[in-house]
Amino acid sequence: MLSEFNVIERFFARPTSIKKASTVLGIGDDCALLSIPEGYELALTTDTMVEGVHFFAETNPEHLGHKLLAVNLSDLASIGAKPMSVLLALTLPRVNEEWLEAFAKGFFSLADEFSVDLIGGDTTSGSLTLTVQALGLVARGKSLLRSNARVGDFIYVSGSLGNAGLGLLFLQGKTALQSSVAMTQFNTPHPRVDLGLKISIFAHACIDISDGLVGDLGHILKQSQVGACIDWLALPLSDDVRAYIQQTGDWLMPLTAGDDYELCFTVPPELVALVPQYCHKIGVIEERKGLRINRFGLISDLVGKAYEHFS
Ligand code: ADP
Ligand code: MG
Repeated sequence: MLSEFNVIERFFARPTSIKKASTVLGIGDDCALLSIPEGYELALTTDTMVEGVHFFAETNPEHLGHKLLAVNLSDLASIGAKPMSVLLALTLPRVNEEWLEAFAKGFFSLADEFSVDLIGGDTTSGSLTLTVQALGLVARGKSLLRSNARVGDFIYVSGSLGNAGLGLLFLQGKTALQSSVAMTQFNTPHPRVDLGLKISIFAHACIDISDGLVGDLGHILKQSQVGACIDWLALPLSDDVRAYIQQTGDWLMPLTAGDDYELCFTVPPELVALVPQYCHKIGVIEERKGLRINRFGLISDLVGKAYEHFS
């Protein structure tokens, strides 16, 4: 059986885990050391995934390694930061080499794609709990805040909504509709890092959709002290999500289900030409507080609706 030290050596302190000039000191000492370039601010975030709470027991460890990093990089994306380094804290019930191998594979393939160094962490024993802390760089004063939406801004979302929600419903046995798009989005979401960097030049407010559009757009509205109306017909939905809604009538699912990790952001009307093609205009920021939806000309309060959906 491998010791804690051997687990780190064998699976996480890879020679290739250090690539960046910013990493002065990586895994192996009491702390890592980073060099922060002049004119930048450090963006920091952390997210934990607990077995039985955030993922099912027996989840494919390669997917877990990917998703744990992806959800953290998604937070960096939504503030417009460029990912730099990550710390990884693992609490493991036992040392399972096959599991660790697959977890590291999922983790490092995404880390390599975004060129982030794993610079340290912690390894302990206990119920399976996975934590990443991610660090990124954003040009001073240029971060995309939740609090910056203005009346008249158009609201955009990247990709499409509800795919991960559909994947979760399938895994829970609540739908028989099997969708590869949905499973991929649920298991291995791809953080919108490039989009975050691109829109940081001109967007007003931004958030990543981890808890569902209603809740997450709601954070922008609350912190910006504005309201919004979104247009049902403008929502980007995959064919599979449309089929699910057709079958069940559950049109709130893509608005309230989480885990898509798309970006929702607001843009002043004069700059909408800068928004990339794969983003969709879904509504507008209004002075009147609250979140409303226009469904076939009938405007209703979405926050109330979302609540019914959960209860
Ligand atoms: P300490 O006792 O000083 O906290 P540890 O023995 O926990 O040190 O860790 C030794 C080194 O290995 C440190 O540099 C730490 O950051 C790193 N490390 C520990 N666990 C992990 C992990 N899961 N992934 C990456 N680095 C790790
Ligand atoms: Mg330690």
